[in-house]
Amino acid sequence: MDYDLTEQQQDIIDLAYQLGQQKVKPVREHYDQTEEFPWPIMEEIRKSDLFGVYVPEGYGGLGGGTTELVLVTEQLSRACGGIALAVAASALCGIPVLLFGTPEQRKKWLPDLASGKRLGAFTITEPGAGSDATATKTTAKLDGDDYVLNGTKNFCSSGNAAELYCLFASTNPKRGARGISAFVVEKGTPGFSFGKKEHKMGIRASWTYDLVFNNCRIPKKNLLYKEGYGLFVAQNTFDCSRPESALRRWASRKARSMRPWPTSACASSSARRSRASRPSST
Ligand SMILES: Cc1cc2nc3c(=O)[nH]c(=O)nc-3n(C[C@H](O)[C@H](O)[C@H](O)COP(=O)(O)OP(=O)(O)OC[C@H]3O[C@@H](n4cnc5c(N)ncnc54)[C@H](O)[C@@H]3O)c2cc1C
Repeated sequence: MDYDLTEQQQDIIDLAYQLGQQKVKPVREHYDQTEEFPWPIMEEIRKSDLFGVYVPEGYGGLGGGTTELVLVTEQLSRACGGIALAVAASALCGIPVLLFGTPEQRKKWLPDLASGKRLGAFTITEPGAGSDATATKTTAKLDGDDYVLNGTKNFCSSGNAAELYCLFASTNPKRGARGISAFVVEKGTPGFSFGKKEHKMGIRASWTYDLVFNNCRIPKKNLLYKEGYGLFVAQNTFDCSRPESALRRWASRKARSMRPWPTSACASSSARRSRASRPSST
């Protein structure tokens, strides 16, 4: 088995490293101090095709997986952990859609997440349900062709900056952990609003918000997989995202002691263009 990085993975490292050092590093202090959301940097990441490295090509991504996502956020974290978290949070919405979405759901949401046109977020935590996600109190009650959401989520990374949210709510509170289901909720849905913003001690370029659902109606077809399988969806998502999460934190801490990454001479400004410009190996 070949454990070496592929040429495309090396290109992704080079590109994310350069973006981090050239575009993120000079402005990271500004975003950390002001807590503004780093929209201009999001635009740079979009232009570089780095939001969708883990998304199949058929949905507008680069066709990689967990490894490619790790490589991007690791390199961005070397410049700013908060900015890298926006890419990671968006993937936390894309991954469950990719793993459990129907072909229609994938077609509807993945291209925007892959291109970075819309940022994603993942919202499972509640004031009384942190480590113990089975204590989820937010409810999703089926009413005709809609689910009606009620409850409050907290600590949602990318909070008000995101536009698509993978949300977990109980469709059957009597069943406890087996009553929790996963949904996609779009920003702007009536009854969905934002509560307080957390003012953190670090990674302040990342927005962390409470989300409030007050009789928020979402179409029944926004259910991901099956009713009662929400924690299964969450655990499988974490299986794909935890390597990224670990490397992101490690890279942020180690950044000061790391030497410059050896970039290849042919690094392009887009992972897609870079790959396209390489001669085919076949
Ligand atoms: C910056 C930031 C961003 C976040 N982003 C998101 C996000 O995008 N989406 C989202 O859904 N959530 C997010 N979270 C929430 C995060 O996932 C929770 O903070 C985490 O699940 C822990 O929950 P809690 O804070 O309620 O702590 P608690 O669950 O109350 O835990 C407090 C402490 O007790 C310990 N503990 C808990 N249970 C046990 C036990 N049974 N045995 C021994 N020790 C235990 C924990 O390890 C911890 O040290 C974010 C949090 C932060 C700080």
